[in-house]
Amino acid sequence: MGAFRAVVIDKNESGQTVELRDFDEADLMDGDVTVRVSHSTLNYKDGLALTGKAPVVRRFPMIPGVDLVGTVEASSNPEFKPGDAVVLNGWGLGETHLGAYAEKVRVKGDWLIPLPTGLSAEQAMAIGTAGYTAMLALMALERHGLRPDRGPAVVTGAAGGVGSVAVALLAKAGWHVIASTGRPEEADYLKGLGAAEIIERSELNGPVRPLAKERWAAGIDSVGSTTLANVLSMTRYHGAIAACGLAGGMDLPSTVAPFILRGVSLLGIDSVMAPKPLRLEAWNRLARELDLGKLAAMTSTIPLDQVQEAGRKIVEGRIRGRVVVEIG
Ligand code: NDP
Repeated sequence: MGAFRAVVIDKNESGQTVELRDFDEADLMDGDVTVRVSHSTLNYKDGLALTGKAPVVRRFPMIPGVDLVGTVEASSNPEFKPGDAVVLNGWGLGETHLGAYAEKVRVKGDWLIPLPTGLSAEQAMAIGTAGYTAMLALMALERHGLRPDRGPAVVTGAAGGVGSVAVALLAKAGWHVIASTGRPEEADYLKGLGAAEIIERSELNGPVRPLAKERWAAGIDSVGSTTLANVLSMTRYHGAIAACGLAGGMDLPSTVAPFILRGVSLLGIDSVMAPKPLRLEAWNRLARELDLGKLAAMTSTIPLDQVQEAGRKIVEGRIRGRVVVEIG
């Protein structure tokens, strides 16, 4: 057994500490597959864990990082053998189970899926949990029967990670995409990803009316709170909004009016415990449908020793698109 480099969150009387240090392989948690991590990413939840802004971390010490790509080093799981390239999103990684900001993880093989054909390790992590969640949201809207001929689709938090991938995916699928952002300087970036219209975040976070003028048939929301309440009140008859995030708050100051007077639906999206068939479908669609040029345009890369600073930025809403963390 040896040691490997990892970002470690610990807790003492004065609060939370975060450091990049050696971690003993003997201290890894149970699992039937050991993976040499090549890349992880920065998601909003990683920012919450790194800053301690919300109780994401459920045991200490914890290695944060909710997603990874790597190569199987050892496996007693019949589905995986040394050398296999694998992807992991969620399942408590970086929350209850030692996570991805490390050169090595030991996990349950059931949590892994093969790296989808057509994607490099870097591209898979440029998509990461944020992009996979955006695809789960698009799939939920489609399962609801919504198609581009029903009207526009709104994306909130559009310049963020989930938002950027959602804009690109919806545009590729033929939707007229209305991107809501608090960063008007990112208008050209969002148009480059496929947004047809840009609206100011402030249009959606003012007072909520039970029903407002109908503006869109569908939506992917990563903001929650007043923004989601306004988005619902502006949704067309029989439209639906996929709720995936809480960047603006966890509350939902809405009324039942959109649901009972316009038949609007609120579709919940969870990426963490999503069953394997849904994950495989989402990843296979991402590999086929996401424009890799647009993916590159929304992605920046940092080394492991910069995740702490990047974590602070993401909870302040100052990260554009997706951030890949290069590890091994
Ligand atoms: P990002 O920080 O990259 O994106 C969030 C975006 O929301 C920001 O870029 C910003 O966009 C907007 N925003 C930030 N703060 C506020 C605010 N106070 N009011 C209104 N808008 C705000 O995070 P991610 O894309 O990684 O994640 C987005 C959300 O989705 C998070 O809440 C995350 O926890 C959640 N999530 C949920 C998953 C699930 O399984 N359900 C999986 C992955 C993420 P702009 O500047 O364009 O306005």
